[in-house]
Amino acid sequence: MKTNEGAEIEFRFNDPIFERSKALEESECRTIDESSECTSCDETKKLKPCLLCALPACPKHLVYQRPVPVDNPERKRIAVQVCYNCQNRFLYRECFTELLQRHQLFEHVNDLAQKLLK
Ligand SMILES: [Zn+2]
Ligand SMILES: [Zn+2]
Repeated sequence: MKTNEGAEIEFRFNDPIFERSKALEESECRTIDESSECTSCDETKKLKPCLLCALPACPKHLVYQRPVPVDNPERKRIAVQVCYNCQNRFLYRECFTELLQRHQLFEHVNDLAQKLLK
């Protein structure tokens, strides 16, 4: 799947970023050194790790706030800065989920209609 900025990113419904119970520690993320590049562009300076996917991102691509844990209202949510790719994954997931629900609703209505017509 491609983002608006042309970067190729992987999308999976079971991506661990959707299941994190807490943000990663910086020490758990990929080490950032001189050879590191932003995950969304080729910027190499001022990189910081995304605390969801552990990859480095530049200040321009690490600007989104996401609550962690994502789908767990019982736990106290904390917002962390996530990268452009992770943000896109969340947007796609929301879209897909909505489409899926609409599809299921449509099937349901269709079923009912079939029954009524019999
Ligand atoms: Zn960048
Ligand atoms: Zn990320």
